[in-house]
Amino acid sequence: MTDALVIGAGPAGLMAAGALARAGLSVTVAEAKPSVGRKLLMAGKSGLNLTKDEPLESFLGAYSGSSAELVRGAVRDFPPANVRHWAETLGQDVFTGSSGRVFPRAMKASPLLRAWLGELAGLGVAFRTRSRWAGFDARGYVFDTPSGRSVLHPAATVLALGGASWARLGSDGAWAPRLADAGVTLAPFAAANAGLTVAWSAHMNRHFGAPVKVARLTAGETPVRGEFVISARGLEGSAVYAISKPVREGAGLTLDLCPDWSLEQVAARLARPRGKATLSAHLRKVLRLDPARLALLQEFGRPLPQDASLAGLVKHLPVTHAGLRPLDEAISTAGGIAAQALDGFMLRAHPGLFAAGEMLDWEAPTGGYLLTGCLATGLAAGQAAATWAAAYPRGM
Ligand SMILES: Cc1cc2nc3c(=O)[nH]c(=O)nc-3n(C[C@H](O)[C@H](O)[C@H](O)COP(=O)(O)OP(=O)(O)OC[C@H]3O[C@@H](n4cnc5c(N)ncnc54)[C@H](O)[C@@H]3O)c2cc1C
Repeated sequence: MTDALVIGAGPAGLMAAGALARAGLSVTVAEAKPSVGRKLLMAGKSGLNLTKDEPLESFLGAYSGSSAELVRGAVRDFPPANVRHWAETLGQDVFTGSSGRVFPRAMKASPLLRAWLGELAGLGVAFRTRSRWAGFDARGYVFDTPSGRSVLHPAATVLALGGASWARLGSDGAWAPRLADAGVTLAPFAAANAGLTVAWSAHMNRHFGAPVKVARLTAGETPVRGEFVISARGLEGSAVYAISKPVREGAGLTLDLCPDWSLEQVAARLARPRGKATLSAHLRKVLRLDPARLALLQEFGRPLPQDASLAGLVKHLPVTHAGLRPLDEAISTAGGIAAQALDGFMLRAHPGLFAAGEMLDWEAPTGGYLLTGCLATGLAAGQAAATWAAAYPRGM
């Protein structure tokens, strides 16, 4: 017998499990994979960005989507300062990087996850790995396990099954048709924080892997200054992820290769005497373009104009691309359980069933907003489920 069930052992589910256990309930966490927190561990491979040091109202402005207001409410109750404190109580020193991004000193997720699981074990939380939730039956929640089907019928349940990217880590979005069949309104999944597909010419091969450190990308109304990388498949990295929402919504994309200089300054530099230098050598010299930026100018701007309009091209280079990389490669997923399907964190169609984390319909850029949103909604959904379980102890 278990009072409360959490399905999905990512950051949202683990947070919910802690909240339920602290409320005095017996808690079981069911996870499809043989081990827990696989996406969290993957997130730590490139430096686990837990949250961001920034004024709360500006932080909250990063969330969008139909369930964003719900996420904002949860983050107000568990803001970035609490995320820091939480990590520290798990023995993880944190530091703030130059852009305000907050990381554990260890950078990776494994020490934090280990300490977290230790804390949950101390609270009596039981884990069932290799238990894939397969749907509902009249008696409760049905699981496929190595020893066959099993059914759990707790007083309250929190779903924290993640989005629909990086399926190999567990979040495959297979829950969506199951919930839709149960009458839950869903917004369609879409890639968020995704790279761009570019069909490069052969000239670009030698630049694959090259970072572009000084540039500004503008998609629609969103200018983003930051770094990205030229890859065999297109463009990747934080600045590209940050414009993936407007690009997904159809905005055109331009690149400013000299963001520190105005159009007039670029034009004046280009007008300097060229002598016998080739145009490439001239561009390199007067605009201090490194090989990667010069290659992008030639790739997207070819044939380069020989007149004064070249300055405009350097400042507003149209980026020709074939859209976002596929959903499974995205850092996160937009879409999921829509606000109208929810009463707080509870599914209107399923009293006693709550949801948290990336499976709700919200999105945010990279920068720690994702994990903070998942931790905060996990905590809030767990607390709401505990209140429900206290009011309706069994048999609902
Ligand atoms: C490469 C990469 C780097 C990232 N870096 C950062 C970062 O630095 N900072 C940041 O804020 N965010 C980062 N993210 C995003 C962040 O990891 C996710 O937003 C977060 O893990 C989502 O948490 P969640 O608990 O909602 O879902 P998940 O972490 O996806 O967990 C869902 C769990 O549910 C399980 N599950 C799914 N279906 C079933 C089922 N039917 N039955 C049982 N269990 C099931 C899955 O196996 C999984 O363990 C990164 C993501 C990636 C891919």
